[in-house]
Amino acid sequence: MIEAITSSREAILLEDQYGAHNYHPLPVVLAKGEGVFLWDVEGKRYYDFLSAYSAVNQGHCHPRIINALINQARELTLTSRAFYNDKLGLAEKYVCETFGYQKALFMNSGAEANETAIKLARKWGYTQKGIPANQAVIVAVKKNFHGRTTTIISASTDETARTGFGPFMPGFEIIDYDNIPALESALANPNVCALWIEPIQGEAGVYVPQDGYLKAAETICHKHNVLLMMDEIQTGIARTGKMLASDHEQVRPDLLILGKALSGGVLPVSVVLADDPVMLVIHPGEHGSTFGGNPLAAVVCMEALQVVKDENLAGNAERLGQVFRTRMNALIKKSDWVTLVRGKGLLNAIVINDSPKSQTAWNLCMEFAKNGLLAKPTHGNIIRLAPPLVITEEQIHECCDIIEQSIINFRK
Ligand code: PLP
Repeated sequence: MIEAITSSREAILLEDQYGAHNYHPLPVVLAKGEGVFLWDVEGKRYYDFLSAYSAVNQGHCHPRIINALINQARELTLTSRAFYNDKLGLAEKYVCETFGYQKALFMNSGAEANETAIKLARKWGYTQKGIPANQAVIVAVKKNFHGRTTTIISASTDETARTGFGPFMPGFEIIDYDNIPALESALANPNVCALWIEPIQGEAGVYVPQDGYLKAAETICHKHNVLLMMDEIQTGIARTGKMLASDHEQVRPDLLILGKALSGGVLPVSVVLADDPVMLVIHPGEHGSTFGGNPLAAVVCMEALQVVKDENLAGNAERLGQVFRTRMNALIKKSDWVTLVRGKGLLNAIVINDSPKSQTAWNLCMEFAKNGLLAKPTHGNIIRLAPPLVITEEQIHECCDIIEQSIINFRK
């Protein structure tokens, strides 16, 4: 029998004693979720303003996605790719048609999908672009976040993510984000196979590049025969008010990387999308994953995306994002604690007027929690605010009231 937790304190003590200390969570223990709401062990209800880092865009435990999960779980969950299964091809067709690509390669976590894209880009560089063996360079940008594997942190500029984990993987050049001249000079190197960027830097604190940056990146990539490798794991699937954040500038990446909300937060599903000349550089035995492309994930992914379309979550994110930023901009005038609001759709952040080393943003998030809203600081003084996209206008206003009251009444 699995023991039951009866108090938040008990759960926190257990995690502290038996779990690795690789996270520093807010002291809230969640036991139930539905739509935009979460409940803790004591039964207190919160608005979720993190959405599992944009994995639950469709809302917690969406009934259609959960039904798809349960029905498929009763039939077949995993065969490995040693055999075909009757759902993977359907899901591949579905994501290819949804996002406009010829081929899909399913994995599980976001980090794995990025690793997959790195391998595809390098192999394409050697076999199609003619880069000399082992000389391929991938251009990444400062403050990127693509996951936690040793290869991915080799391209990170976050010292907390890197320190103590070397030696690092060679073959990355790091340039400034949102800097078009830097793209021009870096991509001119004939050994560059790919440019690896997020269309909005989520983990960096929802940093939105200048209008035209993504389009310029696409143009310069085409000019130098470099693949545009876009990590839309956090920005994709309607979060920013369009199906993809790249759609805001009509940019079509050569390698599109998706994860998180691809399953509505139900289980880890990620995918890399590309056309044949890129995807078919990888042959049997060169890449894979036991769980990648399993029938349970395939069915959940199709239903999760269909929910996004049927409920017009992109339209909702676009509309309510405007409402949210208008309210937050009004708050800047009422309180010295907030200096800036930025974002697109329902991926937004407020910048708190204190040093990143201060506890102010953390303490504000504790106030939000006390008042029934969950959010978490990033990089010290930035608070990302990203509710599930099923939120209503009335609820957004109620949440803005909570944020506003918490900030106005806050004393350091
Ligand atoms: N890429 C981006 C843009 C992300 O935001 C994240 C997670 O926050 C990842 C990759 C890593 O995804 P995962 O944690 O599923 O490995």
